[in-house]
Amino acid sequence: MRNERAAKDDEALILDSVRRFLEREVKPFVHKLEHDDTYPAEIVERMKALGLFGATIAAEHGGLGLSTTTYARIVELVSTVWMSLSGIFNSHLIMAAAVQRFGTDEQKARFLPRFAAGEIRGGLALTEPDCGTDLQAIRTTARRQGDHYAINGTKTWISNGIHGQCFALLVKTDPAASPRHRGMSLFLAEKGPGFTVSRKLEKLGYKGIDSAELAFSDYRIPADRLIGGVEGRGLQHALGGLELGRINVAARGVGVAQAALDEAVAYSQVRKTFGKPICEHQAIQLKLGDMATQVRAARLLTEDAARIYDKGERCDMEAGMAKLFATEAAVQCSLESMRIHGGYGYSKEFTVERLYRDAPLLVIGEGTNEMQRLIIARQLIQRNPV
Ligand SMILES: Cc1cc2nc3c(=O)[nH]c(=O)nc-3n(C[C@H](O)[C@H](O)[C@H](O)COP(=O)(O)OP(=O)(O)OC[C@H]3O[C@@H](n4cnc5c(N)ncnc54)[C@H](O)[C@@H]3O)c2cc1C
Repeated sequence: MRNERAAKDDEALILDSVRRFLEREVKPFVHKLEHDDTYPAEIVERMKALGLFGATIAAEHGGLGLSTTTYARIVELVSTVWMSLSGIFNSHLIMAAAVQRFGTDEQKARFLPRFAAGEIRGGLALTEPDCGTDLQAIRTTARRQGDHYAINGTKTWISNGIHGQCFALLVKTDPAASPRHRGMSLFLAEKGPGFTVSRKLEKLGYKGIDSAELAFSDYRIPADRLIGGVEGRGLQHALGGLELGRINVAARGVGVAQAALDEAVAYSQVRKTFGKPICEHQAIQLKLGDMATQVRAARLLTEDAARIYDKGERCDMEAGMAKLFATEAAVQCSLESMRIHGGYGYSKEFTVERLYRDAPLLVIGEGTNEMQRLIIARQLIQRNPV
């Protein structure tokens, strides 16, 4: 009971300091950083000091050791102000989670404290030009050469690809293996000769954070960087991080949807048509009512998935539901908020325009929403056999 209360107090303190940081050090700068598509280097330094790069890394490895529930609340708060910022630590923490869950003791000791301090930052390199959903079709190979592997191939859409230094890299160590996943392995790859950024990718939204194509050309990596030290478990290790990733993305969806709602509630009270604020027109009230209900339901689904994850139970169905619902809510709420803003919603001077450009990414990343529906249905059948 006392432990529970102490954990709640800790959570309140952390959320408070994140709120203050966002209010003072992020909000005033978002508009310019977003429209100039500038990497927020100074804000990243503050995020290091706040411990965000170690949020879910265990305290014994130098992190804050936060529960997924608390972490999801942080991601939501950050995304209400600027979703791009959450991407800078979210995929970094999924890379760290792969090491924490599946790495050797030597890998944990070597990397986790430096990940937690934000001294080495990075992300997850799974997607390739020819495949994202069908990960077993990747073509990047790692061939053993004595105490090293030689890696060749291309990864694309990699978040933090330019400013990050280290990536959990999914490769084929046995391209002929059947089933295909038995030939897949996950490495912890640090930039060096043979591992280069081939180009920065331009995007509709999600500005500020870098998305890049990465090229591997006879990149020599020591064999002890194979996560867990055993070949053939890469897909399992990569997918193991996706439940956390989906809760992450769901929390971002809640944040974007909440921000869209907040903007609409405020604007509809000051904009007048036909002699009264538009919030007094029933057509606008119907929109606000639907949006508020979606935001609340999205938050409850996300908290539910995070709670199950924290208990150490399987939650692919619940994380999939949260991801699906919360991200669709973000898309719908940002569009409805834009409609409520009328012509001003289409202006770059108003926040809702950014929310409208950011939201669609959420239905694609961490497994498209089409795939979430399939995952939910498969789990439903598996859990209810006749
Ligand atoms: C801004 C941004 C950041 C990203 N960051 C990262 C990152 O950090 N690391 C990383 O590895 N990747 C990253 N990605 C890639 C992202 O994860 C992929 O784009 C996503 O997984 C979808 O893969 P794809 O684009 O190859 O689409 P495809 O797999 O080609 O899918 C195309 C369409 O077909 C549908 N589809 C595919 N298979 C099926 C099926 N079996 N049944 C029904 N429908 C299906 C999909 O739902 C989708 O609608 C990022 C992408 C973007 C845009």
